[in-house]
Amino acid sequence: MNTMYFTEEHESFRQSFKDFLQKEVVPHIDKWEKEGAVERFIWKKFGEMGYFGLNQPEEYGGLGLDLFYTVIFLEELQKINSGGFAANMWAHAYLAMTHLKEEGDERIKKEYLTPSIDGDKIGCLCISEPFGGSDVAGMRTTAIKDGDNYVINGSKTFITNGVYSDYLVIAAKTNPEGKHKGISIFLIDREAEGVSATKLDKLGWRASDTGEIAFDNVVVPKENLMGAEGLGFSYIMQHFALERLIMGVNAHARAEYAVDYAIQYMSERQAFGKHLNEFQALRHKVAEMASRVDMCREYNYSIAKRLNDGNYVVKEASMSKLLSTKMADDVIYDALQLLGGYGYMEDYPMARLLRDSRLGPIGGGTSEILKEIIAKMVIDKKEYKPAT
Ligand SMILES: Cc1cc2nc3c(=O)[nH]c(=O)nc-3n(C[C@H](O)[C@H](O)[C@H](O)COP(=O)(O)OP(=O)(O)OC[C@H]3O[C@@H](n4cnc5c(N)ncnc54)[C@H](O)[C@@H]3O)c2cc1C
Repeated sequence: MNTMYFTEEHESFRQSFKDFLQKEVVPHIDKWEKEGAVERFIWKKFGEMGYFGLNQPEEYGGLGLDLFYTVIFLEELQKINSGGFAANMWAHAYLAMTHLKEEGDERIKKEYLTPSIDGDKIGCLCISEPFGGSDVAGMRTTAIKDGDNYVINGSKTFITNGVYSDYLVIAAKTNPEGKHKGISIFLIDREAEGVSATKLDKLGWRASDTGEIAFDNVVVPKENLMGAEGLGFSYIMQHFALERLIMGVNAHARAEYAVDYAIQYMSERQAFGKHLNEFQALRHKVAEMASRVDMCREYNYSIAKRLNDGNYVVKEASMSKLLSTKMADDVIYDALQLLGGYGYMEDYPMARLLRDSRLGPIGGGTSEILKEIIAKMVIDKKEYKPAT
């Protein structure tokens, strides 16, 4: 236990969450990976246990806990080795629900946030579009005011929980001529006429219903505008700090899982009459892998602490995601190698882990875009500020 960040309460939460995952989730993972969908009952169980409300206000049914409970939630989800299942859970709790919490009004909080905490409603966050995900300001989906409504047209793609969720938090241009300042955030109910979704087939995250979504003249009441019109881009960037740190934490956790698994395997497998953990070349490889995991984990914890203390950590969260996801890909690649042919087999965890990990440097801002942001901050001294 790292006592700088985790108390005994944190650790007892970790143990009970681990037990819950082993009992309620692990027996179903292979089925969900095959079917490309997570069954509805588990959402409700997460809700009943309070897992979707860890960082949410108590007045809406949340637990109002510090960010290290979220860190534990993320880490333990990675360690049951289904990046897709984990993504469904954290995209709901920390992408969609963060917008409800921060920009939703009282009605939206009552009608969507509380049921989301309870596991009765599932959400997704729709920013990326078929014509471009990195260039957020270049999005083409429009939301045009029409009396007391907005009419939404366009499409989104690669959306986690995009097919089976009950509501969509979407970014659209209220001023199609404007770039950053023309974007606003809306809540759309899945039942709204004109919303349709298609499930996408993909390399990893196979338990997750990643979807492409079309909006064809979807009429949304003006009350479903979240926050101020035109401030959508700032809200997105502000919440990206949490999302990117989440992806950094996920990366160090799955890399740690890979190292632990490889160490155990090496203590059992023999070659040339010796256990694998006796070969110096392999011992040095593991030493390097473990060191890289430790460096990222400690950095990520320190940034989680700063975020929890109310600091705006856009640069640090970008650095966390950039380096932790690269580290995880490298470490998992090497861990698979340590298992030899078994590393390549689906009966062992490394094959899925390798596939799932590859999304790290792509989703939620690619490594190239993160380098752009970091370069602007460290070279040009650009300062990003929270939306007001
Ligand atoms: C499984 C999965 C789940 C996802 N979940 C969600 C979700 O829930 N919600 C959501 O909104 N999005 C989601 N995404 C989308 C993800 O965030 C985007 O894929 C990502 O932001 C990149 O956008 P793009 O795919 O359009 O790539 P592009 O923007 O087309 O980029 C293609 C390549 O060009 C590079 N590139 C682009 N611009 C520059 C530049 N200026 N300088 C240097 N290099 C550049 C990129 O780094 C990339 O390597 C998900 C994606 C996947 C695969």
